[in-house]
Amino acid sequence: VFALPVAAYMVQEEEAHAAENERTFIAIKPDRIAEIISRFERKGFKLVAIKIMVPSKEFAQKHYHDLKDRPFFNGLCGFLSSGPVIAMGFIKYGRKLIGATDPQRSEPGTIRGDLAVVVGRNIIHGSDGPETAKDEINLWFKPQELVNYRSNAEKWIYG
Ligand code: ADP
Repeated sequence: VFALPVAAYMVQEEEAHAAENERTFIAIKPDRIAEIISRFERKGFKLVAIKIMVPSKEFAQKHYHDLKDRPFFNGLCGFLSSGPVIAMGFIKYGRKLIGATDPQRSEPGTIRGDLAVVVGRNIIHGSDGPETAKDEINLWFKPQELVNYRSNAEKWIYG
């Protein structure tokens, strides 16, 4: 279940409420794709970009460049590049939905708390803030791969 990486990626729109408009990059692993996407969708996040790819080791190193001095960097990049990654862009950021880095410390109800066990296989990556999200979006997507539209949820969830 945790053998292959999948990336999910979420972006947001420029609208009135700044906090609601953060951009996010999310990475998830296969076998749980539908369940993980549905958690963001249920919360009212807007999917604006999605693709599947197998990142090279070099690409994974770029993605995790800020962790290059950590002892697990090589294994982490090997894991990310070991299979398909689904990259998705959503509008609205959901770090709380994801849970803590270590699934053992993630609350039940979070994605990692419910679906993951081991820190090196913690099922999902989420950018840690709007600036990182911007960089990660630029790394994983071309500008024309981001779709601009108005979702039904915007009216009823954000007001
Ligand atoms: P997060 O993904 O929660 O933002 P970090 O950015 O600190 O966490 O780390 C990136 C990823 O590196 C984690 O999601 C996890 O897969 C892996 N990682 C973090 N700490 C460890 C560790 N001690 N051992 C192995 N892998 C780790």
